[in-house]
Amino acid sequence: MKTRTRFAPSPTGFMHVGNFRTGLFAWLVARQAQGAFIIRFEDTDKKREVKGSREHLLECFEVLGIDYDEGPGIGGPYAPYVQSERLEIYTEWAQKLIDAGRAYADPYTPDEVQEFREQAQRDKKPFLYRNHRPTNPPKWDGSQPLRFKSDPKAYKWRDEVMGDLSTGPEVIDDFILIKSDGYPTYNFAHIVDDATMHISHVIRGQEFLASVPNYLNLYEALGLKPPIMATVPHILGHSGTKKLSKRDGAKDILDYIREGYLPDALVSFIATLGWNDGTEQEVFTRDELIEKFSLERIQRSGARFDEQRLLWTNGYFIRQLPLDELYKMVTDFWPKEATGFDDAYKKQVLSLVQERLKYFAELPELTKFFFVDLPINMTLISGHKQLKKLSSSECKQLLEQVQKSLEDSDFTVGDLNTRLNTLLEDTNQKPAVLFSLVRVATTWSPASPSLAETLAVLGKQKTISRISDSCAKL
Ligand code: GLU
Repeated sequence: MKTRTRFAPSPTGFMHVGNFRTGLFAWLVARQAQGAFIIRFEDTDKKREVKGSREHLLECFEVLGIDYDEGPGIGGPYAPYVQSERLEIYTEWAQKLIDAGRAYADPYTPDEVQEFREQAQRDKKPFLYRNHRPTNPPKWDGSQPLRFKSDPKAYKWRDEVMGDLSTGPEVIDDFILIKSDGYPTYNFAHIVDDATMHISHVIRGQEFLASVPNYLNLYEALGLKPPIMATVPHILGHSGTKKLSKRDGAKDILDYIREGYLPDALVSFIATLGWNDGTEQEVFTRDELIEKFSLERIQRSGARFDEQRLLWTNGYFIRQLPLDELYKMVTDFWPKEATGFDDAYKKQVLSLVQERLKYFAELPELTKFFFVDLPINMTLISGHKQLKKLSSSECKQLLEQVQKSLEDSDFTVGDLNTRLNTLLEDTNQKPAVLFSLVRVATTWSPASPSLAETLAVLGKQKTISRISDSCAKL
């Protein structure tokens, strides 16, 4: 059977890391097998639908470079790929079940069902709808929910991630196939769709695992062979105990793009949330992922979302980029003070910070001092481990000595390095003291790239004038 995987989001909000990871895994399985990757909108819960969500979901895939072969917008041999446009198909399949005596109209009001539930609670028994199955159900006319007439039995099945699983008959119940509003439930619609779209692998989140025995019962009633199933565990927040929440950074995946994370870095990071290739390798290109990914190596317990590792991964991908390519990507991220500076200068600045840039939105903070004199901020001295030991006049004296030497420099990196090292000897100071002082006095910024290179890019005039301004203020 050809490998055909799908990602079936409900258009109920933005795409977060967890959703995207499920889609990414399904994409990797399809691409590895040279199969097809399908997107399907599951929009049968009309109350939960959020406007703009469909466009957003598709945009995420486009921006992150995850292509699909069939789906909304592009169509395909099993169109439509939107559940609300497939209602006739579900009715047809429901009819097959009714004809086979495996579905019936639910005659109870919601209040009556609630009463059964409460009674079960009072009796300290699990609630099973099938214990109240009506003996003479009315003919289904679409105004009542249509229920599946289950056939309770034990199941053993294999989940590609979770391994061999089994359950007893007590978990099997008569679930709703079609609601009284005419829309099918997820439980019914996805089975019909996966079958009619010839999906080979159903890869989805942990929240559906408990329902799988019921799905197996329905597959049997429909005479269908179940697809391969793979259950992806939750992503856990920073603490590693609770499901990733908004507070932990479960944000819109496009927010990461807006903050200047690279699509390749996000793909690598998200693919390795709970998956590894069995080696120590931590970052992967897309091609490596396609080659190495396997469902069996997804870990069974939740994966901890580690923001620091994301930053590190993105920094790694940024460092791999050729300068010109990086330069094009950061166009919208420069501080406003950089307006008017030419490309050559900005490129030099960028090449200095490329090494430590973790995401593009950090660019202003890291580079502002290259474009504008920052206000003198004495806490950079008083709060500095080494510099706080110096008196104001000692600082001043050292800086005057530095200024004198630099006035004769040609401001090449080589000459600046020679002079800075000579100054170390002449002043009998440690690099941690002297270089930190020069760094602060020329940038008034908490961090900067290598000193000689920074000064070379700033140029002679700016360097000298900043040192003398600093001396005047000290
Ligand atoms: N519509 C379901 C969701 O968004 C999809 C589950 C599945 O992949 O089958 O969670």
